[in-house]
This record gives sequence, C-alpha cells and structure tokens, in this order.
Amino acid sequence: MTLFERIIARQIPADIVYEDDTVLAFRDIKPQAPVHVLIVPKRPIPRIAEAAADDAATLGHLLLKAAEVARQLGLAQGGYRLVFNNGRDGGETVPHLHCHILGGRPLGWPPG
Ligand code: 5GP
Repeated sequence: MTLFERIIARQIPADIVYEDDTVLAFRDIKPQAPVHVLIVPKRPIPRIAEAAADDAATLGHLLLKAAEVARQLGLAQGGYRLVFNNGRDGGETVPHLHCHILGGRPLGWPPG
C-alpha cells in the first residue's frame, strides 16, 4: 500500500481540501509555496509514465479538479503551477501518481 493509499484510507491523517469518488486533494506536509496541495487518483497509478488508455477519464477528471481546487483556494487570479514528478530525475518520491498544485507566490522557471 502506498503512502497516499494510506491517506485515502484515513490510516494517516491529512489536511483534506477536496474529495470525490475519483480523487483526493490534501495539503503537502512540507509545503514549497503558501499553497501546496497534492491531488491524487484514488485508484493508484504509479506514475504518469505507467498510465494506460483506460486511465484517460481519471486523469482528465484529476486535471479539471486540480483547476477547481486551485480556484477554491484563491489561486485563479494570481496563477499557479501544476507539477507531475516522474521517476528519479523528475524528483518523484512517492510511487502513486500525484499532481502538485503550487501557488501563492511567484514561482521561478526553470525549476532548479
Ligand atoms: P514527489 O516528490 O513524489 O513529487 O511528491 C511527494 C510529496 O509528498 C512531497 O512534496 C512530500 O512533501 C509529500 N509528502 C510526503 N509524505 C507526506 C505525508 O505523510 N503527508 C502529506 N500530506 N504529504 C506528504
């Protein structure tokens, strides 16, 4: 069971900001911006590189809900960033697909 499956199962506490049948969104334990939320599919997909054609609806839903969560958290006007880290060089540390929603300050580019 991945760490995020344990959060979904309420075995580990998290500050949940949105939930429906398909996704869960919760605040990152080590925020890198004033707003830093992770949105994950409840059905685990290890990472975007391993997503399959039948994950398309889940991934589309996740992206639309990421935008909705960002809007609900007040980021729509100032802007925000969505990030999927994939694999070692991408900085992935939890093998359960997740989208970082980052905002509340100007974000540098390119990332370090
Ligand atoms: P990754 O590095 O895999 O893209 O992102 C994993 C994220 O999960 C990191 O930003 C990390 O701070 C966050 N994280 C790790 N453990 C926990 C936890 O127990 N609770 C929460 N809410 N976030 C966590």
